[in-house]
Amino acid sequence: FNPPPNFLWHNGQIKPWAEATVHVSVHALHYGSSVFEGVRAYETPQGAQIFRLQDHTDRLFHSARVYEIDMPYNEEEIRAACKQAVTANGLRSAYLRPIAFRGYGALGVYAEVPTEVSVLAFSWGSLLGKDALEHGVDVCVSSWQRCAPNTLPAMAKAGGNYLSSQLVTREAHRLGFHEGIALGANGLLSEGAGENLFLVMKGKLYTPPCSAGVLAGITRDSVMTLAADLGIETIERDMPRESLYFADEVFLTGTAAEITPVRSVDRKQVGRGGRGPITQRLQEAFFGLFNGRTEDRYGWLTPVSAE
Ligand code: PMP
Repeated sequence: FNPPPNFLWHNGQIKPWAEATVHVSVHALHYGSSVFEGVRAYETPQGAQIFRLQDHTDRLFHSARVYEIDMPYNEEEIRAACKQAVTANGLRSAYLRPIAFRGYGALGVYAEVPTEVSVLAFSWGSLLGKDALEHGVDVCVSSWQRCAPNTLPAMAKAGGNYLSSQLVTREAHRLGFHEGIALGANGLLSEGAGENLFLVMKGKLYTPPCSAGVLAGITRDSVMTLAADLGIETIERDMPRESLYFADEVFLTGTAAEITPVRSVDRKQVGRGGRGPITQRLQEAFFGLFNGRTEDRYGWLTPVSAE
C-alpha cells in the first residue's frame, strides 16, 4: 500500500487504517480460515459505482456457509460497509476487499472464536498491468494442479485456497511469466492463479465448467452475459491443455485482472500474439458499462453514495 488508505471498515465501524490490528494468534492466520471477496468500484459519469455488489456479497455469504464461519453482520450491512469504505477514503474508483475470518480466542482447529469482519478499499489498477489490457500477458501452464473436487472447495473463496494460487503464480513469475494457468486434478484446464480462463475458437467462447475446480467468477459470468448480448456463444466445457496452443484467442477474467488478453502460452504465440478481436469487443462491452457506452441492462451498478 503506497500510500496506505486513511480508513477502513472494521467490525462495524470506520477506523483509521493503522488501528485495525489483530493478534498473531488469530485462527485465520494459522489455518487459512477466512472468506473474502474482491470487488471493484468504477468511476462513471454518475459518480463512483460498485460493480455487482449484490453478487459479491452473496458469494461471501456462500463461502462463509461452506466453512461455518458465523457472520455477525447481514448482507445489507456488508454492502453498506463497502460503500462506507469507499466514501471514507474519498475514492472515485477502488478495489474493495471484504473479508471475514475466525479471530482470537483459541488455537484448536475446531475452535469457536468470534468472526472479525473488515472491508478495505484502495486504489488498484488492473492486476496484470494497464499495458496488459492492451498488449496481453505471457502465461505458462503450471506444474502445480488445482485441488481435486471435494478437497478444498473451489467455489468457496477462502483464504486457504490461495496457497494453491501462490504456488501457481510464484512459479510463473520465477520462470519469467506474468501468470500461471493451473490444470485441474483431472489434468484438464481449470483457471489462472486468480482469474478464470477463456479460449476463443472459430468465433465462439469456451471456458472450463465449475466442475473443473474453478471459482464461479463474477467477471466470468459478466463476460458470458455480455458475449450473449453481442451474439457470441459461450460453451462451458472440459478442455485439454493443448487447446491453449491452437485457440485463436485466450484471455483471463477477474475482478482484479478485468479482461486480460493472453498473448503467449508456454512461449507459444496465441493467434497473432496480441489482443484478439473478440477479446477487444468484450473489453469494450465490459468497460463500456463504466463509461456509459454499454447500457447497464442487468442492474449491475450500485452507486456508492445515495445521491
Ligand atoms: N479464480 C480465482 C482463483 C480467483 O481468485 C478469482 C478472483 N476472485 C477469479 C477466478 C475471478 O473471479 P471474479 O471474476 O469473481 O473476481
